[in-house]
Amino acid sequence: MNITQAEFVISAVKPHQYPVDALPEIALAGRSNVGKSSLINRMLMRKALARTSSQPGKTQQLNYYRINEKLYFVDFPGYGYAKVSKTQREEWGNMIESFLRDREPLKMVLHIIDVRHPPTKDDCLMYNWLKHFQIPVCIVVTKADKIPRSKWEKHMKIVKETLEADPADNMVLVSSETGLGREQLWDVIMKAIED
Ligand code: GDP
Repeated sequence: MNITQAEFVISAVKPHQYPVDALPEIALAGRSNVGKSSLINRMLMRKALARTSSQPGKTQQLNYYRINEKLYFVDFPGYGYAKVSKTQREEWGNMIESFLRDREPLKMVLHIIDVRHPPTKDDCLMYNWLKHFQIPVCIVVTKADKIPRSKWEKHMKIVKETLEADPADNMVLVSSETGLGREQLWDVIMKAIED
């Protein structure tokens, strides 16, 4: 995928701030620190468009990026960060739930999982939510460069089994460090927005 244009549009905290041009949207969900910002930067071939190590306290903003005048990436706030209050957790839940339920241009969620660790309870809850709302999911297993290649298959199997993933879901192993999986993930995304 050749990126000719990639720009940050808005940190939206309320639905009236979401874009109204109806371009297809691909959302990214994952635990804090899973590597979401790094993945966005790698996918868009920009060094620091998405801030890495985004502040975990910011539970209520959706960061929109417009790409090639063709689609948006919507970066969800990371979840599973221990130090957020119950109120913040609830705000996060309400925002994400209404987005998943009502957001018409949403075509797919990239559910990001760290290859090194089995999915957590929060990851399983997120995945079940996506299924509940019948959102197409691509499981993106990241930080591949952090474990030896000989262990990739075993770790992918653990991710799939722990999430009790639908066999029909796409699953892509990536590394934002090396660029592994980038083209494969773009293929999945382009197919999702063309359907
Ligand atoms: P976010 O909180 O989900 O946005 O996570 P970040 O993108 O800030 O990444 C968290 C940490 O993991 C940072 O130190 C990144 O440099 C590192 N990281 C992210 N992706 C990769 C990867 O694919 N490979 C390696 N080796 N490190 C990564």
